[in-house]
Amino acid sequence: MNSLAGSQPDPYFDDLYRDLILDHYRLPRNNRVLDAPDADLTQFNPVCGDEIRLTARIRNGAIEEIAFVGQGCSISQSSASMMTEAMRGRSIEDAHALAHNFRAMILGEDVDEMAMGDLMSLQGTSRYPTRVKCAVLAWDTLQKALGGASGREDVGSSDPDSAG
Ligand code: ZN
Repeated sequence: MNSLAGSQPDPYFDDLYRDLILDHYRLPRNNRVLDAPDADLTQFNPVCGDEIRLTARIRNGAIEEIAFVGQGCSISQSSASMMTEAMRGRSIEDAHALAHNFRAMILGEDVDEMAMGDLMSLQGTSRYPTRVKCAVLAWDTLQKALGGASGREDVGSSDPDSAG
């Protein structure tokens, strides 16, 4: 049973999820800059003042190591922390797929809750349009960084996704 006397819980984040977000905000995972990264990209969310610098090492088409440093609101920083945990060891293709699903979740679409795991804690962000950019900043940074990093092996395929 929850007793929330005296507090005004945010209706769209339940307590478990709120705790998880704050835990990642206060103790961010993989919070450093990697040496000699294959991908190194910094992006900003000027609306909120969030900043994320992402570094990653890519081996055999997969994310061997990934880390971030940054500053900003709890949503942006906890999202980045959870992302680094979720992404390590994934293939580039798989990483893009997860980023796609995360973005869909934040935009309010139904997603596979089992597959999302702890990332579900950020689903409540979908109720706050102004916070969507906070939540997706790290993921957007990762996708852009991977786009530049996947060429370490000679890939001859042309990417149809040439959005700018
Ligand atoms: Zn923010």
